[in-house]
Amino acid sequence: MIDGTASVKRGLGWQERLRCTKCRYVGNHYKLYNKVERKGFGRRAAQINVGLQIGIASTSIGNTGTCRILNTANIISPSKSFKQTGTNKIIAALLL
Ligand SMILES: [Zn+2]
Repeated sequence: MIDGTASVKRGLGWQERLRCTKCRYVGNHYKLYNKVERKGFGRRAAQINVGLQIGIASTSIGNTGTCRILNTANIISPSKSFKQTGTNKIIAALLL
């Protein structure tokens, strides 16, 4: 079964691993999202998070409004610092 105690949250993306209920086996974490392809080092952003940032940047809703919408839909929203960092990266990429 999915080991919910070891879930890793990356914004709106999740990484999960499997755990056996009969023995102590636990599998590797697997990303349940698609990554943005790019060159260079560092962790790849999840497409779902980049899409969210583009949506936030192109509407007047803003991070707080987005957070409220996600929470009322019972979706755990990304942290405020995460969204601000993402917004800054998107804006920087759009300005280049
Ligand atoms: Zn087992």
